[in-house]
Amino acid sequence: MRKGEGKNIDFIRNGVYNLWRLFYCAMYVVNQEKCTGCGTCIDVCPTDAIRIRDGKAVIDMACVDCGACPRVCPEGAIRKQPTGSPAALGAKRD
Ligand code: SF4
Ligand code: SF4
Repeated sequence: MRKGEGKNIDFIRNGVYNLWRLFYCAMYVVNQEKCTGCGTCIDVCPTDAIRIRDGKAVIDMACVDCGACPRVCPEGAIRKQPTGSPAALGAKRD
């Protein structure tokens, strides 16, 4: 392998991985129109990733994808969305 070739391969591999993550990975997001702010999802979250903000639940980057919150939400407000979707990109750690 020629000098610098390894770096180019790493650059391409990282780029492909990041694109894959952005468009094909998914994370849990709360539908703000359906959420009633009941707080049931907060009680089951093992990583304290859910907060009530302006009366609605929001999930931040501490989510470890355990899948507990969508199972208990009485409104069916929690769904997985692509990481690159506007709803998912709004997730941040408080
Ligand atoms: S999927 Fe699990 S870790 Fe993520 S927000 Fe829901 S309960 Fe918390
Ligand atoms: S359980 Fe559902 S309705 Fe209740 S706060 Fe969480 S997302 Fe909103």
